[in-house]
Amino acid sequence: MSDPAAGTMDHAEILRAVSQALSTLLQPGDLDASMQRALEIIGQAVKADRMYIFEIHSSRSSDDLLMSQKHEWTTHGVSSELDNASMQNLSFDKFLGMLESLQAGNAYSRIRRHFTEAQHGILDPQGILSFVVMPIILKNELWGFVGFDDCKTEREWSDADLENLRAAAAGLGGAIVRQQMERSFRRQTEELRRHQRVALSLAEDARLAEQAAAKASAAKSTFLAMMSHEIRTPLNGVIGFTDLLLAEGLPDHQAELAESIKTCGETLLSLISDILDISKIESGRLDLNYEPTDVALCTRSVVASFEPLLNTRQIEITCNVSPDLPKWLHLDQSRYCQILFNLVGNAAKFTRQGGVSVNIWTERHLDRMYLCGKVADSGVGMSPEDLANIFEPFQQGEGARKHAIGGSGLGLAICRRLVESMGGQISAQSELGAGSTFSFSIATRTALAPAAKPPQEPSFGRDCNQMRILVVDDVPVNLKLSCRLLERLGFRADTASNGMEALSMLAASHYDIVFMDILMPEMDGYETAHRIRQQQAESSRQPWIVALTAHALVENRHACIEAGMDDFLTKPLRLSDMQAAIDRWRTGSRGLETP
Ligand code: ADP
Repeated sequence: MSDPAAGTMDHAEILRAVSQALSTLLQPGDLDASMQRALEIIGQAVKADRMYIFEIHSSRSSDDLLMSQKHEWTTHGVSSELDNASMQNLSFDKFLGMLESLQAGNAYSRIRRHFTEAQHGILDPQGILSFVVMPIILKNELWGFVGFDDCKTEREWSDADLENLRAAAAGLGGAIVRQQMERSFRRQTEELRRHQRVALSLAEDARLAEQAAAKASAAKSTFLAMMSHEIRTPLNGVIGFTDLLLAEGLPDHQAELAESIKTCGETLLSLISDILDISKIESGRLDLNYEPTDVALCTRSVVASFEPLLNTRQIEITCNVSPDLPKWLHLDQSRYCQILFNLVGNAAKFTRQGGVSVNIWTERHLDRMYLCGKVADSGVGMSPEDLANIFEPFQQGEGARKHAIGGSGLGLAICRRLVESMGGQISAQSELGAGSTFSFSIATRTALAPAAKPPQEPSFGRDCNQMRILVVDDVPVNLKLSCRLLERLGFRADTASNGMEALSMLAASHYDIVFMDILMPEMDGYETAHRIRQQQAESSRQPWIVALTAHALVENRHACIEAGMDDFLTKPLRLSDMQAAIDRWRTGSRGLETP
């Protein structure tokens, strides 16, 4: 039987309770706890025995809608169903019409007498005599419902009561929205933090990897520089002494053997230079030295250096420099010559008949000037497979293998990297048996003519017979070679085997030229040169210091300039290099000029 007294509600009190519950929900802090408190306030005000919130959601396995309990409050003596697993994923089947009522925005209430058999099965264990549920609508969608159970009476709710419950449901709905937003915000913040952590750890990984790579690259560069020094030093002896041997006027067959030794030495030297070049480029340590360059002159001298060889094979080489080419272009002259030298060298190597042609001109693209070149030959050509790989390091094509033509397979790889680091491109076209054409471009601009060399210092009117030379080197074979080369040129030299000895010899007597090795134990060539300059600061007849180094890097040149040296010779030393250095001393034209 219903108890009308139980259904009598004080509307003002209920509204007060709803507003108090809502203000509890608006407090910052744990929303689950606030929700619990809000249910308690409203539940007590409406004199319910159990108050709860269910969420409606889809089933995982079908399109059916299910309900799951999220919050609950119970009055003293009424069992809580919060941990009851059967209150989760409950089907609406047993509550005919309930879902439809809620979807239509209406309350749904039942008293025990009207429960179906199935409802008895669910509601009786909880001692429910009547209940009412009110939809919670979020963003115009049915989110769930708030429910009120009576366990002591069968309560019939008046329309006015239901209006109060609707207000409570709307307030709770607002709190749920807030909770959802907070949770999603928290999730996003957490996600963001996670991404930040990942990004930070990736950045740290990248930094460590970069450090390791820089360390490895520095170690590789040092190793290569050391190896290049170690290999160049004995090569210095091989090539230099062979040069001396050849100058002795050997019988023909011996001269031929000596020439072969020299050629082998020079091939090895060029291989070392190539390996050093490619490793420098790949470790990003390539220094480009731009200067006003007379491209026509450079081109013709490269081409001219191949004429004797090609003439012996009756291969015609033509060089066509566009008459429109500006006289001076801003370029790294030695790198440009290196590229052209490689291309013309290959054309010469792989051509047995016909001709080789070199064309040079400038073009403009999108306001940029490019120096363009084409080197074509009528040689052995390449298959499409070989053509696809020739710009990769250590790639040699069929032509090189079949005709047993030597090479390291590094020339074109270096050309490509040089051209690209100068803002250009290189490509090749070729047909097996019909020749090849290599085309390249390098970004450039016109340059002003370089400043004229300053007039020579008056002190350089030399009597070479009186000239005193000191050679400083810690390796006996190098000392011997330098002295023999100088002897061959008609000079006698004193020697010092370390920096200290050189300093004391210079303090004791005057020397016109000091040939100074760089890599020496205890006091290196830079330090020795620096001290010589300090020691002789007051002297009007300072020696001319020529660095002798196996290191051919640009930074070594700069270090020599810093140390106060005048000229620079790269080992292996040749007679002609020594002669050129002495000629420069004679005319006072320093070989080391700050660019
Ligand atoms: P290498 O020092 O071995 O010549 P390169 O990098 O200069 O190395 O050339 C790579 C390969 O490309 C050569 O071994 C050769 O097979 C092919 N190649 C280069 N230039 C020519 C050419 N003008 N004609 C035919 N083949 C060429």
